[in-house]
Amino acid sequence: MDARVERTGGHGALSAAEREEAFRRLRDHMPGRTKTAKGPKDQPDPFRSVVSCLLSAQSRDVNTAAATKALFALAKTPDAMLALSEEEIARAIKPCGLYNMKAKSIRRLCAALIEEHGRIVPQTREGLMSLPGIGRKCADIVMSFTFDRDVIAVDTHVFRVCNRTGITDERTADKTAAALERDVPDWARRDGHFWLIQFGKSVCLSRRPRCETCFLADLCRWFAAAREEAPAS
Ligand code: SF4
Repeated sequence: MDARVERTGGHGALSAAEREEAFRRLRDHMPGRTKTAKGPKDQPDPFRSVVSCLLSAQSRDVNTAAATKALFALAKTPDAMLALSEEEIARAIKPCGLYNMKAKSIRRLCAALIEEHGRIVPQTREGLMSLPGIGRKCADIVMSFTFDRDVIAVDTHVFRVCNRTGITDERTADKTAAALERDVPDWARRDGHFWLIQFGKSVCLSRRPRCETCFLADLCRWFAAAREEAPAS
C-alpha cells in the first residue's frame, strides 16, 4: 500500500470558510440520513444496539450481525444476559472475534445497566461512555442511529475523510470527534455523518482515493501535499 495514501492528518486544517464550503459540496453530492441508512438503528431496542456496538470492535459488519443475532437468541435483557456464563456468551459471539474479552465486557455492561441505570440505556454521551466497553465512537454511533441525535460519529471512513481533507487535522478518533463537535457548522451536524461515510465509501476510498475526479480536490490538504511530493515528470 502507498504509505502516503494511508497517512492522514498533519497537512493542516481547512479554514472555517473552507470547511463550510466542503460541507456544502458534501451535502450537494452525497445522500444524507435516510430510512435505509445502515447502523444500529436497525435494532430499535437500545440494549441490543449498545451490545451490538460493543461487539463491533475490530469486527466486520457481517460477523457483528451474526454474533448479535446468536447472543440475542439466548437472552434479550440485561438480567437474562447476566444469567448466562462468560463461556456461554463467548461461544455465541465467537464470529466477531476477541470473544473472551467481549464476553467479560458484556457481563460487566449488563451489571452496570442493572445496578446503576435502572436497566435503561442512557441517552447521553457521558452516560453511554460510563458503561463498560463503550467508548466515544460507540456512544456517538448509538446516539446518532438509535436515539436520532445530531452527532457525527467517527468511524474509520469519517476519520480518514476528515483528516485527509483538513476538515479536521488530528491523529486520533477521539480528537477528531472533539474537533468535529467544535467546528462543524450547525446545519451540517444532522446529516454530516452520512455524507462523510458515503464520500469515504465512494470517492475518498482507503487505498485508491479518486482524487482526479473528486469535488473536494481543490480544498483537500492531503491532495495538495501529495502533488507537492510527486516527482516532477
Ligand atoms: S482529493 Fe478527494 S479523494 Fe483525494 S484525498 Fe482529498 S478528499 Fe480524498
